Amino acid sequence: MFDKSIKAYEEAKAVIPGGVDSPVRAFKSVGGTPPFIDKGEGAYLFDIDGNRYLDFVQSWGPLIFGHCDSDIEDAVMQTVKKGLSFGAPSVLETQLASEIVEMYDHIDKVRFVSSGTEATMSAIRLARGVTGKTDIIKFEGCYHGHSDSLLVQAGSGLATFGTPSSPGVPADLTKHTIVCEYNNIENLRKCFEDSNDIACIIIEPIAGNMGFLPATAEFLKECRELCDKNNALLILDEVMTGFRVSLTGAHGVIDIKGDIITFGKVIGAGMPVGAFASSKEIMSHLSPEGAVYQAGTLSGNPVAMAAGLVSLKKLKANPAVYSELNRKAKKLVEGLKEIANRNSIGFQATTIGSMFGFFFADKQPTNFKEVSAFCDFDRFAKFHHEMIKKGFYFACSQYEAGFISTVMTDEMIDECLTAADEIMKNL
Ligand code: PMP
Repeated sequence: MFDKSIKAYEEAKAVIPGGVDSPVRAFKSVGGTPPFIDKGEGAYLFDIDGNRYLDFVQSWGPLIFGHCDSDIEDAVMQTVKKGLSFGAPSVLETQLASEIVEMYDHIDKVRFVSSGTEATMSAIRLARGVTGKTDIIKFEGCYHGHSDSLLVQAGSGLATFGTPSSPGVPADLTKHTIVCEYNNIENLRKCFEDSNDIACIIIEPIAGNMGFLPATAEFLKECRELCDKNNALLILDEVMTGFRVSLTGAHGVIDIKGDIITFGKVIGAGMPVGAFASSKEIMSHLSPEGAVYQAGTLSGNPVAMAAGLVSLKKLKANPAVYSELNRKAKKLVEGLKEIANRNSIGFQATTIGSMFGFFFADKQPTNFKEVSAFCDFDRFAKFHHEMIKKGFYFACSQYEAGFISTVMTDEMIDECLTAADEIMKNL
């Protein structure tokens, strides 16, 4: 039933490293062949063998309205007819920026880029440019894209300057990145004691890259206070959570204000987009107004802007969409928890807004080390495999989050729970 995907994977591997353009797609942590996707339709994905899957990945977050939403599709088609790219200003950029700015009282200006990686990389450059300082703090298990200074792992102790986590990244480029433990206030304080040259903290306030793992309100408060005391900037990386967990991202569910917010895929509704946003004072340092250089040929691409604009307008027109998405997410995770309990399987699950995550673990992890130590990865791989066979497409790693779309019905979630029930009996 996966014959065509198996063949396509072999063919892809001959001309594309690992057969994929982004490593997670290779299903390395669960094994097996990734289905090659032919099309999406509403809540479903269809692979080239004709298998249908209920899609809990949603292109890793952006597709809040599911695949092929007709309003977004129409806007994209209309815009495509006028040209794909101009490399010159268009009013669509101003319109989308205005929609974003309107949501936050502490955000005045937005700069669009083409990916989350670019957004965080540029936000850090801006923070360094504004503060005139060099060191940055990032947390173990948070992912902010693949720019050199962010591809770091913790050194031998905690709160140490990071070491590169990939060949090709010189240690010289990561030596200003301090890696600290998520949700560990003592550890964070120590970073500020050890360095008086900290330009910024960058954090996923609701982490979706070590599984779904929110920071505690106390920890975020400490991040805010330490930044204020030490003249450092707080960058909230909301590439995944912006417009996903609420209309104002993490800010809408936890009382936290970032100095710079980074956005990504979600604001493009599936088109390649990223952005970073801040106050007019901070943004005035950015080229061409200020001296901090940042640029992009395809930045603010009109087709991507048009898609994002419709998606954001639809969300704003009906904010109740978030409670409805969360109701469905709760139905899913509570259902899965009940099934796991009944089968004496250690299982933890959380949801905020339309995001959710689960761990096969006896205790809820609070940081990356605990995710690695507590979770049963073999059991997850087996579960994932069996769910795919039954037509349910979950993220292929326990380190990833899941997403609910508006087109996902209660009946679809019930079908998923029935399948999970059959699988967990033999897990
Ligand atoms: N930040 C976060 C929080 C992310 O989840 C991601 C990607 N999943 C990125 C940054 C990088 O975004 P991109 O893959 O678009 O470069």
